[in-house]
Amino acid sequence: MASPVSEPEIHLAARRAAQLRAEIARHDTAYYVFDAPEVPDAEYDKLYSELVDIEARYPALVTPDSPTQRVSGAVAAGFQPVVHTVPMLSLNNGFTDQEVHAFDQRCAQALHKTVLEYACELKFDGLAVSLRYVDGVLMQAATRGDGARGEDATANIRTIRSIPLRLQSKSAPRLIDVRGEVVILKRDFERLNQRQRAAGQREFANPRNAAAGSVRQLGSNITAQRPLSFFAYGVGALEGADMPLTHHALLDWYLELGVPVCTQRAVVHGVAGLLDFFQSIKIQRDALPYEIDGVVYKLNWLEDQAQLGFVARAPRFALAHKFPAQEALSRLIAIEVNVGRTGAVTPVARLEPVLVGGATVTHATLHNEDEIRRKDIRIGD
Ligand code: NAD
Repeated sequence: MASPVSEPEIHLAARRAAQLRAEIARHDTAYYVFDAPEVPDAEYDKLYSELVDIEARYPALVTPDSPTQRVSGAVAAGFQPVVHTVPMLSLNNGFTDQEVHAFDQRCAQALHKTVLEYACELKFDGLAVSLRYVDGVLMQAATRGDGARGEDATANIRTIRSIPLRLQSKSAPRLIDVRGEVVILKRDFERLNQRQRAAGQREFANPRNAAAGSVRQLGSNITAQRPLSFFAYGVGALEGADMPLTHHALLDWYLELGVPVCTQRAVVHGVAGLLDFFQSIKIQRDALPYEIDGVVYKLNWLEDQAQLGFVARAPRFALAHKFPAQEALSRLIAIEVNVGRTGAVTPVARLEPVLVGGATVTHATLHNEDEIRRKDIRIGD
């Protein structure tokens, strides 16, 4: 039997959870609303995992407004909201082989099967969009937003040349929501930043922000000048056609319809197949033409996916296996002191700006005075 939880322990956990929620909310606004992150994704993911762990240990502490309970994002001012017929969800993350094993075991137990079939693909680092084709014609394109409501970005998305304005088939379904990611190729990202520099305009921190910032423009003439690409990886509403039986078949069907899908994809069996795919992509990562932050595993049979269903913000049948955090060197300019709302004092390092994992980092927490002494941290280091 689990030992009872003491009052002070719960109190501490509640305080930490509230701190984490506030910090995550701040980063969400910078990332989703302004397309300008202040910390690398790995740093954000660490805060998020800590909150997930606390909530798993003390379920009574879960609040309805916790970032673990919803898809992050919002409809920015100036955009018309679009209600998604089928919600656009996020993905659960895993960073270690053990987490991949645990994911496979959960799926196997739920389906009463031993060896499962998975569709593996790349985890693109761009902006998720949903493209609605009615009788084969692109009628509406929306961003993910908070998952239930996105932003109407039809005029902007129409300017992306790899997105067909009309599906290439006489037998196009009556209605289909094609879901995928708008990305910017690494080569195009470099060129775009050169152009921004030459025009004396703000450079983009990373391809993800460049793609998101380009689609979430109030003028489609600006989007049209940005070299954006698109890859489909999912489906929302579908009417007037049978749903394919597997995820792999869905992507093959997209190719027939003239919708681009990524070529790096595979159907594998069991955990060994998943981890082999991860390793092979990790080796290719730097040579790929686009930025990715991991790979995605999905149960291949859509029937199996339906049986597993969803938790609050993500499907149970999929896992994003993310690459490990990146490291970078900088110089310590000064040590500042942050005073929290509760009066808690935290030393913070002011750093020479350094680009890490797509964010320009200027500050880092030093935790407390003991930590500074233990590591012998000095200005100028
Ligand atoms: P996510 O990016 O971890 O995963 C879900 C998204 O992945 C989907 O919505 C979709 O857009 C995308 N995706 C890419 N390839 C896919 C594929 N093959 N199949 C399905 N989906 C695919 O989740 P999120 O909720 O969009 O964002 C959370 C992540 O964003 C965090 O893990 C963090 O890395 C980053 N983030 C960073 C900051 C920051 O300040 N640096 C702030 C907020 C979020």
